[in-house]
Amino acid sequence: MIRRLLLCLTLALATAACGQAPTDPPAKQPQTKPAAAPAGVTAPAADSGVAPRINPSRAMQYVREIVGMGPRPVGSAGHRKLEAYLRTQLKGDNVETDGFTATTPAGSFPMRNYIARYPGTKEGVIVIATHYDTLYARQDFVGANDGASGTGLLLELAHHLRAGKRNGPSVWLVWLDGEEAFQVWSATDSLYGSRHLAQKWQKDGTTKKIQAFLLLDMIGDADLSIERDSNSTPALLKMVEQAATRLGYQSHFFRREVPMEDDHRPFARAGVPVADLIDFDYGYANAFWHTSDDTLDKLSPRSLEIVGDVVLESVRLLSQ
Ligand SMILES: [Zn+2]
Repeated sequence: MIRRLLLCLTLALATAACGQAPTDPPAKQPQTKPAAAPAGVTAPAADSGVAPRINPSRAMQYVREIVGMGPRPVGSAGHRKLEAYLRTQLKGDNVETDGFTATTPAGSFPMRNYIARYPGTKEGVIVIATHYDTLYARQDFVGANDGASGTGLLLELAHHLRAGKRNGPSVWLVWLDGEEAFQVWSATDSLYGSRHLAQKWQKDGTTKKIQAFLLLDMIGDADLSIERDSNSTPALLKMVEQAATRLGYQSHFFRREVPMEDDHRPFARAGVPVADLIDFDYGYANAFWHTSDDTLDKLSPRSLEIVGDVVLESVRLLSQ
């Protein structure tokens, strides 16, 4: 993902170029102290249940296999390989391929979002999404964290969702295409898959059914610290914080507040409650981000486990 304003903030705070990030609210200072637990976050006393835990080594194996496909920008052999892999792994599930043609500064490209639907007993939908493409401009970029970590973790989550009809709303897993810019990140050169799907779902009324849209991006960093994204829905962040606290993982969440531009934004604009779970401090001052250093050795199965468990627990809390 890209966030120019934040990048500037991360790099140094305040060169003239940093003033460009136009319509967004100004970046806030990173907070180093953990926020006090917000009021109303405590779980009801009667609720002692906890969601099942993910299998971290299986999740990591998915990530490893995806990284092994090499760079996976839109239009590449690696991208096609990953699409085939997703279809194979999701065989037997209810999967929709949402295909469309995107006009980019590098030409027109066919793109495909993949949506796997797991039914629940109640009305409504919880969406868990990630992007599976990698940076277009770099041939040496394998996107272990930025691309593969979320893609692999969603495949792991599918094991838990296909286990049987869940008590609660349906859960849809969404692998979005074309998140990365082809040239320079802008409103029109970025988020191709999410802009397409949000528009489609707004048109057909689906957005009204979505109770929560949880986005996972760059969640494999061994030094895991998920941002408090000020472009996310506060009530949903509170709920995620509650889930993290219940599992004892709260030290990995929400120490720093930043506004993120990511695949959740088109859905937020369509009126959907959203939460972007992203660690945008990957290496010192985000040094590994969008570089050839975004490799498997920087990742940890423990980080996938922390985020995966918090997502499953969040789904459980949303299902009550
Ligand atoms: Zn990226």
